[in-house]
Amino acid sequence: MAPVATTQDQNQTTYANGNSVSAKYDILEDYQGNYRFAPIEEAQVSRAMIKRYFTSMYERAVSDVVIVGAGSAGLSCAYTLASSRPDLKITIIEANVAPGGGAWLGGQLMTPMVIRKPADRFLREIGVDYEDEGNFVVVKHAALFTSTLLSKVLAFPNVVMMNATAVEDLIVVNDFEGKQRVAGVVTNWTLVALNHDTQSCMDPNTITAPVIISATGHDGPMGAFSAKRLVSAGLLKELGNMRGLDMNRAEPAIVNGTREVTPGLILTGMELSEHDGSNRMGPTFGAMIGSGVKAAKEAIHILDVAEVVNGKVVGKVTA
Ligand SMILES: Cc1cc2nc3c(=O)[nH]c(=O)nc-3n(C[C@H](O)[C@H](O)[C@H](O)COP(=O)(O)OP(=O)(O)OC[C@H]3O[C@@H](n4cnc5c(N)ncnc54)[C@H](O)[C@@H]3O)c2cc1C
Repeated sequence: MAPVATTQDQNQTTYANGNSVSAKYDILEDYQGNYRFAPIEEAQVSRAMIKRYFTSMYERAVSDVVIVGAGSAGLSCAYTLASSRPDLKITIIEANVAPGGGAWLGGQLMTPMVIRKPADRFLREIGVDYEDEGNFVVVKHAALFTSTLLSKVLAFPNVVMMNATAVEDLIVVNDFEGKQRVAGVVTNWTLVALNHDTQSCMDPNTITAPVIISATGHDGPMGAFSAKRLVSAGLLKELGNMRGLDMNRAEPAIVNGTREVTPGLILTGMELSEHDGSNRMGPTFGAMIGSGVKAAKEAIHILDVAEVVNGKVVGKVTA
């Protein structure tokens, strides 16, 4: 079909001095050398991003659930939570520029991804194809799983994801029963969080929420963050540390052990193995999915019995 030029009314542009313009413009999708874009002002681009991003930050300063880390466990959790509870404000904080954690490849940097049954149900739910090998299934490329899951999570209207943002502390308060409770997260741009040793006075920001789900993966520069912070905050004696590889013990241990480890804080995925001292399972990802789903169910259970005011748990709902 021949390209068709269309004339449209440009959105009204208002400048800082109060002047506004509204003009006609031509656009043309022509790949023969005459492609014409609608005109734009640089300030329109800036404002389009700023107003949305900072409105989100303002609104999510109080969230219903914060998920820390957008790897396979955090994303499986976000999908389950967002699809079953569209009323919840779910905020995902991801330290990396690229969300997805370690689930862009399978073992030893190979592309196929192995998932043991019954976690294959989740693949059917999100619409990822696989080959059935009997007791397990294989997705042709781990990135197919992660990109599909990520796209579905981000499409939920109740999910906000802030990447390139690190959780650098937990809010810990005395709750209504006088117990120590994790009541939110302390955040900063990751580039700032990585430079506290070289620059001073770079204060963070906070998000208050009745439930925090930490899915920060293995111990590393940022990983296993909440588990390690529980130790340094005196809420956990010591890390269990990940044990040697045993697929048959490791995967059920992660899924069945997914829980609220301290009031207000649920651990999921490989961060839990660092907390509990359970075996690693190597490149089989069913446990990350199952643990994420279980973390979502645990969060719903906590919210069902909590009396929450302005993101703070102030009591228990009595029947
Ligand atoms: C040493 C090592 C051993 C491994 N062993 C296994 C194994 O036994 N079994 C297995 O399944 N996989 C293993 N893997 C691979 C991989 O880590 C996991 O398969 C899988 O990616 C873990 O999923 P996850 O969702 O728990 O964490 P990850 O995929 O690691 O995702 C964690 C996410 O949290 C983000 N994050 C971390 N800290 C913060 C913070 N402070 N604030 C905000 N975001 C943060 C990270 O950027 C990342 O995106 C191993 C990897 C390593 C490096």
